Amino acid sequence: MSIETAKGLTKASRDILLRRFVPDDVKEIRMDICRVCPSWEHRSNRCTECGCQMRVKTSLTSSQCPLGKWGTHLNLRDAGIDTAEHEEGSE
Ligand code: SF4
Repeated sequence: MSIETAKGLTKASRDILLRRFVPDDVKEIRMDICRVCPSWEHRSNRCTECGCQMRVKTSLTSSQCPLGKWGTHLNLRDAGIDTAEHEEGSE
């Protein structure tokens, strides 16, 4: 197992324990990208690049595609970033 794989598994475990899941629309966008990717193994629903089960991987906040086709979905408020000026209706 590579160091990158071990790091990814650690982050995934933390997301599951802390119940940090992405919104359904983000998961669907990720799955749509994976479904047309040559690295997606249809029968097992796994990525041949990382070996992950994609229905689980696409639902986790810290997950990212190993080929950079989609990235992490971090909650800006949880990261301590002020999002007030970007919210709808605020001036
Ligand atoms: S995670 Fe990336 S490389 Fe793997 S199947 Fe999805 S888009 Fe393809």
